[in-house]
This record gives sequence, structure tokens and C-alpha cells, in this order.
Amino acid sequence: MKINLSFFFLLAFTVPVFCQKTENLIIVTYDGLRWQEVFTGVDSTLMNSKDYNQHKAQMEKEFWAETPEQRREKLFPFFWKTVAKQGQMHGNRNLGSFVNNANPHWFSYPGYNEIFTGYPDSLVNSNDKIENRHENVLEFIAKQKGFEGKVAAFSSWDVFPYILNEKRSNILVNAGNEDLTQGTINDDIRLLNQLQHEAPKLIDGIRWDFLTYRFAFEYLKANHPRVLYISLDETDDFAHEGRYDFYINAAHETDRRLGELWQYLQTDPFYAGKTTMFFTTDHGRGDADKKTWRDHGSKIPDCSGIWFAAIGPGIQASGESKVKEQFWQKQFAQTFAGLLGFDFKAAHPIAEAVLLKK
Ligand SMILES: [Zn+2]
Repeated sequence: MKINLSFFFLLAFTVPVFCQKTENLIIVTYDGLRWQEVFTGVDSTLMNSKDYNQHKAQMEKEFWAETPEQRREKLFPFFWKTVAKQGQMHGNRNLGSFVNNANPHWFSYPGYNEIFTGYPDSLVNSNDKIENRHENVLEFIAKQKGFEGKVAAFSSWDVFPYILNEKRSNILVNAGNEDLTQGTINDDIRLLNQLQHEAPKLIDGIRWDFLTYRFAFEYLKANHPRVLYISLDETDDFAHEGRYDFYINAAHETDRRLGELWQYLQTDPFYAGKTTMFFTTDHGRGDADKKTWRDHGSKIPDCSGIWFAAIGPGIQASGESKVKEQFWQKQFAQTFAGLLGFDFKAAHPIAEAVLLKK
């Protein structure tokens, strides 16, 4: 009896502690998605602009509401009904929560370099297909015991094999309209490989986000990677084109997909209760009223303002951050390593992690 009882207590007290640990990590980036939409929903100036919105009635019906809190929940239901309740959201500058690029360039390659290397090297200053000389945290994790062959990245933009230095890093980077040929190739993957060449072209070198997401999701179900990065691009593409309607739609669709993925994770014993998701962006954009919202880069004031969110075991459910704080994009790399219990070390300096746990 005594033995049984202590066994019961052992179970009761060890299982919850075990479940508090992050064993798998999923990172998702929305390229150039503004903090303004994440925290205040659809912008009235842009919604009402004939120049930027050709679907005003539809947008108003679907996403407009009186308060910023109502609007953001309509636009990002997964973020605000799930992540903000069970995880954390940072970057609402209206409340004093600041998250910024540390790099001085405020465009994509320097931003993604900062996210994954933890080093905002100002010499990384081009979106060209240049092999990144800095080691990134994904390749560092892929060298750790139990993570070999278990790190994969799927991106809409075809520069990622260079940003993550696929050649050197030895992780799977499926980017642009590249066919997936690694891992389990089932009928779903075969169909996606075919569909992506049949779909109308978006922009040269960029795959539609629904395809990138679906490749990543099917790969996850079939291969169970322990670290998965999904890099989505349409928010930036449509904003540059001045299409606020398409930008909003892309943001909303991604939120829906992430809700679907989070739900799926809770049903798969490999992931349930031990997987953390982390969301962010590579850079901000300009201001709606100043007509700079389409663009970003060092000439656009304030577009280094970004945001991040996280949900998963061990992440305190503190919700939307309402305290004065300053975080930097360079802190994410060490945060990713820390969530999995590692200390990321490379030949370059690495900023300290963001504290997400209790
Ligand atoms: Zn851009």
C-alpha cells in the first residue's frame, strides 16, 4: 500500500513538471506585418482609402468594430482568443511595450539574420542571395543530441536557403517554388509539388503562403520535426503593392492557419503539451496617415517597431504586455535555444534571451 501510494504521488508530481518543458519549437514569421494591425486591428484611414482598398464593404463587414480590442480580435482570432489568454503578446507601443530591430536597415534579410543569429551585424545589408557567414540558431540546434535531422524550414521567399545557409547548416530549407524531395513523400506532398507549379504566379521568387504553410504542415504530420520554421511573405508583398485589402486578408488567413496548426499539435502525442510556438516579423512598416505604410527601410521613420508572441508549455500566461519594456529582435535566437534548454554559442556575439517563463 505504501509503495503504491508513493508511486501515485510520484506520478502526480512528476508528470505535470515534465509537461511544462518545451521539447519542440515552431517559429512563424509574417513578413512586414505591422504592430499596429496586431494590436489595434484594421486601420480606418487605410480601410477607407480608395487608393489602397478595393473591397471596403467586405473589409468593414468582416473586420471593423468600434474598439481596437474588438477589431484585433476579428482580424487575429487565434492571437487574441488563444495566444493572448494562454501565452504572451509584446509590442503594443500604445501601452509602452517596445520591441525593435537592433539592425539599422529595417528590411528583410537583415531582420531574418538578426532573428536567427542573434547578431544584428550592420554589414548584413542586402536582400541578395548571399550565403550568410554567421551561424544561426537553427543549425546550432540541429547539431544537438536528439535534434539531428529534426530541424526544417519552409519559406515563401526563395532567399532563405542563403539567409539560413542551407549548404553549410545542413538543415532542410524548402523555399520559393522548390519541390519537397526530403522526408516522407506521400500523396499530399506529391500534390503540393504539382500544385505549386500550376498556381498562378505571385511574384518572381515568392510562393503563395497557403502552399508554404501546407507544405510545412504536411511535413510536420509525416516527419515530426522538433524545430519547424514557417516563413510567410504575402503581408509584405501586398503592402508594397499598396493593396491593404490583400494585406489584411493575408494576415487573417495566416492567423486562421496558425489556429489550425495549434489545434492539431494538441491532438498529436508527439507534440501535445510539449510544443511551443513563437511568432514575430522581420521589420515594421511606415505610418498610415503619413502614407508610408507601404514601405519600410532606414528612410521610413519608426518602421523598426516590431512585435512578438509566444504560447506553449512553460511560457507564463501573462497575456498582452502592459508594462513599459524594451525588447530587441536580436534576443530571439537565444530565446529559441533557451526554450529547448540550450545555450546558443557561435563565433559572433549573441544577445541574451527574452524571459518568457515564470
Ligand atoms: Zn518589403
